Amino acid sequence: MAFVAPAGTPITIGDILHGLVNSFSHDNNASGLCSALQKVSGAPYIWPVNSGRAAMTAILRAMRLRRADDERNEIVIPAYTCYSVPAAIERAGLIPRLCDIDPLTLSMDIDGLRTCDFRKVLAVISCNLYGLPDDLSAIERLCRERDVYFIDDAAQALGASLGGRAVGTFGDAGIFSFDKGKVISTMQGGVVLCSREDLANDLENQICVLPSLTSAERVLNALKLVVYTVLLRPALYPLARSMPWTGIGETIYDTKFPIAQLPGFAAYVAARLLERLDSLAAVRRKNCEALRSALADRTGLELLELIPGSLPSSIRFPIRVRDPSVRPRLIAAFEHAGIGATASYPKSLADVPNVRARLAGTDTGFPGARTIAATIVTLPTHAYCPPDLADRVDQVVRECLT
Ligand SMILES: *Cc1c(COP(=O)(O)O)cnc(C)c1O
Repeated sequence: MAFVAPAGTPITIGDILHGLVNSFSHDNNASGLCSALQKVSGAPYIWPVNSGRAAMTAILRAMRLRRADDERNEIVIPAYTCYSVPAAIERAGLIPRLCDIDPLTLSMDIDGLRTCDFRKVLAVISCNLYGLPDDLSAIERLCRERDVYFIDDAAQALGASLGGRAVGTFGDAGIFSFDKGKVISTMQGGVVLCSREDLANDLENQICVLPSLTSAERVLNALKLVVYTVLLRPALYPLARSMPWTGIGETIYDTKFPIAQLPGFAAYVAARLLERLDSLAAVRRKNCEALRSALADRTGLELLELIPGSLPSSIRFPIRVRDPSVRPRLIAAFEHAGIGATASYPKSLADVPNVRARLAGTDTGFPGARTIAATIVTLPTHAYCPPDLADRVDQVVRECLT
């Protein structure tokens, strides 16, 4: 039976072939990608690297170097975000400190952030989950007041904006990701964005000496992208789900990721996909609108609120079930109907043992993050979604929740 993948970017065989033909001119591809990203984000300093985690680690190391004098080693992160964020913090030799999120918007809770102990804090990181912009202006203002760096994590929010300003460009530095399930995907890839000359110098020194991935790694990644390209279609996606090496649906805490240059092939394909960013976003927004109107008044679930001025990248459509105990049944019912709904990250970072063991500060309960971890369900929005997706979703919801 056909199965709608939870997330994905349509890639053509033409994208792959052009990428392979052009894969050897690494420097050209990197600079082509940078100018495309410059156009999308407006950021003055941009470097492609091999993953979002690698980009985050590089930024954290540069910030630590800049403020080596005052022994600040804590990074404030949302208590519900991608596990790669605390993994990058550990990799950079720094300590995570959690701030709760607002369960209505998924943004970092501003009152929670205000009462945070900033004495040893080096930086604050946003999350912009599922492409919904956080309350970025408020976070940025607070970080300036407290004299700490702000890193705008736009791994899921390439192309999103708040008040007309690109997500990823708030604060001092930011990241994008081209991993599977992000706005555009080359299976691997990340971007460092920076707006400060002093930090940019440290970043340049670090990134220009990064190693290349081995030929074997590059070939393997290119092959994975070919398989992904083909199998993302609903008719073939059941095959992808049967292959454990794709890592589909996994959430792991891993600090041993490679930190390397982005291969020429991935840089070329990413730049090509960026040309389609607006049309990809338009499809996703349309699918979100259809889901929003189909589900607006359903009992048993709640929709999320947008921060005013948001234009989301909408890589998923998140909803919340009112009763956490029905979630496994609801997700199973979606699966049965051929719709890739997910429970997203399984836990608040406060409950991930490898993160919990390293946390600064005390467990203040993090009710927003724990509520979201127990109640969130994300629905697909990508271009391979069938036209009747919203109706099918609504039917599942009505059968399951009433
Ligand atoms: C995916 C993701 C990252 C890490 O990006 P990778 O390219 O997978 O390393 C960081 N932050 C958030 C919020 C993410 O979703």
